[in-house]
Amino acid sequence: MEMEGWKISMDEIRNILPAWVEASRLHAGEGRVASYIPELAKAPQQALGIAVMGPDGSLLAEGDSSLSFTMQSISKVFTLMLALMDNGEEGVFAKVGMEPTGDDFNSMLKLELVEPGKPFNPLINAGAIAVTSLISGDTPAAKMARILAFFNHAAGGADLAVNADVYRSESATAHRNRSLAYFLKDNEVLGEEIDVEDVLSVYFQHCAVEITCVQLARMALVLAFNGTDPISGRQLIPRRYVQIAKSFMLMCGMYNASGEFAVKVGIPAKSGVSGGILALVPGRYGIGIIGPSLGSKGNSTSGVHLLETMSSSLNWSIF
Ligand code: GLN
Repeated sequence: MEMEGWKISMDEIRNILPAWVEASRLHAGEGRVASYIPELAKAPQQALGIAVMGPDGSLLAEGDSSLSFTMQSISKVFTLMLALMDNGEEGVFAKVGMEPTGDDFNSMLKLELVEPGKPFNPLINAGAIAVTSLISGDTPAAKMARILAFFNHAAGGADLAVNADVYRSESATAHRNRSLAYFLKDNEVLGEEIDVEDVLSVYFQHCAVEITCVQLARMALVLAFNGTDPISGRQLIPRRYVQIAKSFMLMCGMYNASGEFAVKVGIPAKSGVSGGILALVPGRYGIGIIGPSLGSKGNSTSGVHLLETMSSSLNWSIF
């Protein structure tokens, strides 16, 4: 049965959500907490939290929704929109493509194989590093300040900050991302004027922005309303750039499991290796999830299970 209107659905969800969260939590055992960034390995494997926010700011928060975690790849959606605001579509897509890869998020494979050096899309690591290089600012600190200001703006005036331990931990161990970035430099996707270590430092910092499910849901809400914050009524991000970001979320937001996610859940979403997921139901809700245990494709096992349950029960698929 399809329920009419976000408000009715919100009440329906409130009653059943605790049971859904506990059922989905059981799926944490199917995955493992990411450890290639050593600091991330400290996350509680069994945790599962969700926040769902409606257009009047009404909020459902269940499970471990107060747990904070780092945005990781979820940040790429917002740096893409900021780079689009700074450079326009032509400027961004001169450096990155628009196609899913079918490879892992940190793969080198297609970088050399197809159009040398040009990353397939802005959500794989190589593409996101190229996008980060496009963000305006005279120094890495100035770029990062603009990124944080934009994230805070999109999160309804939040006070987000970089988790310094996670940043340092990634920076000290990011051999693969470093090699991707130097490969981009060699192929002039990162231009002559660009210092590779400066770009990487900004990239690691925006991945290490600390957030909660509620703040993620608030950011997702703005995407659910095409860049307009339904709570303040203000247009925060140009509609066209939100449209572009959501297209990539659908095509490659859940890494190599994006196709399966589109079939089973059918809404734009972006996951990160911390176990966070940002998702949205267009015109209805912003959603933030944390479940640190990741499946083989790098997505939160319990978080994806929860979204599958909710989407099939509440008829959320956009298709
Ligand atoms: N900072 C992480 C990395 O570059 C982000 C990856 C992710 O969340 N998939 O490896």
